[in-house]
Amino acid sequence: MAHVDFEQVDKVYPGGTQAIFDFSLAIADGEALALVGPSGCGKSTLLRLLAGLETATQGHLSIGGHRVNDLPPQQRDVAMVFQDYALYPHMTVRRNLEFPLKMRKLSQAEIARQVQWVVELLSLGGLLDRLPRQLSGGQRQRVAMGRALVRKPAVFLMDEPLSNLDARLRVQIRAELGELLDRLGATTLYVTHDQAEAMTLGDRVAVVDQGRLQQVAPPRELYEHPANTFVASFIGNPPMNLLPARISVADHSSQLRLGEQQLPLDWPMALAERWRDQPLTAGIRPEYLRLTNGETGLAATVSDAEYLGHETLLHVRLAGLETENPLLTARLPGLQMIHRGDSVRLIPDAAQWHWFDQNGANLKLKT
Ligand code: ADP
Repeated sequence: MAHVDFEQVDKVYPGGTQAIFDFSLAIADGEALALVGPSGCGKSTLLRLLAGLETATQGHLSIGGHRVNDLPPQQRDVAMVFQDYALYPHMTVRRNLEFPLKMRKLSQAEIARQVQWVVELLSLGGLLDRLPRQLSGGQRQRVAMGRALVRKPAVFLMDEPLSNLDARLRVQIRAELGELLDRLGATTLYVTHDQAEAMTLGDRVAVVDQGRLQQVAPPRELYEHPANTFVASFIGNPPMNLLPARISVADHSSQLRLGEQQLPLDWPMALAERWRDQPLTAGIRPEYLRLTNGETGLAATVSDAEYLGHETLLHVRLAGLETENPLLTARLPGLQMIHRGDSVRLIPDAAQWHWFDQNGANLKLKT
């Protein structure tokens, strides 16, 4: 296993599309790093750069401290698992697993030993004589994983490996894969557009948007301290509510103004004066809003109530807030007897606001 470094990498495709901008990231030896972002943000490009299927226009790429920019893929000691599995259809599972080792001209004894290792690791014992078409999607995925693992690469690259599985199987295989990655302690770069997959599989998660690294942090830090509004709205489902806001000060107390509505804020005066009347974005996660029967809180009209069994997602429209999308989502426990068109009041947990400037950067205010 080995550590991986991207240093100030740019990638411009022939034709002029710049897919990656000044990208720096260090993956520790044995770390599982999940790379997540929306479609087209540059995830596959980053993976392919490391695999040697694309060349960087600028910057350094290294594996185990050795620069690999100019090495062909087969000399980089990486193994890739793709979403379409890419198993050889006419070969049995056993021959699919043996193939990468035969290509490396290992001895029969060594091949048998390494195949046995992955067969046990991934519980493939009963499948060895089957052809890929005789396997379920989940089994095919395990074999593809086995074929990448069997030669014990320095780095394991996975490109949305679960995306062809149905939702239920995906969650099951995700859990198995998480356990496998822990057990292997393999340096892994795992690419996905699914934030839940990234959060469950990554020791750390790197969030990418439009070819730029937005934040890299352990899952909990990413959720609790998003660096900017992009990360705040990308991580978490439903996403963080983001509202245009201003701080006002009257009678030595501070208020949060959301359109025509106000909520008391318990800010230190100096801080409130510092941000007074400036355009800010206030963010709050859906689980930190609760319903109240009182006269305080944010007045809103219910636009939809989604009952999911263990919780109800309440989508509301805030009164007196003129934005394109004055919708707020609250996550409420169990069944709530609330319907479209109802008037409600919501109280945010004042300690749970996030504050962002006009460029979307988290102000990290100590309130
Ligand atoms: P993701 O994996 O996050 O969906 P990609 O890395 O595939 O994103 O693509 C990033 C950007 O680079 C996109 O704008 C895409 O259109 C562009 N791109 C990807 N591959 C090529 C290519 N071979 N030639 C030109 N542009 C490409």
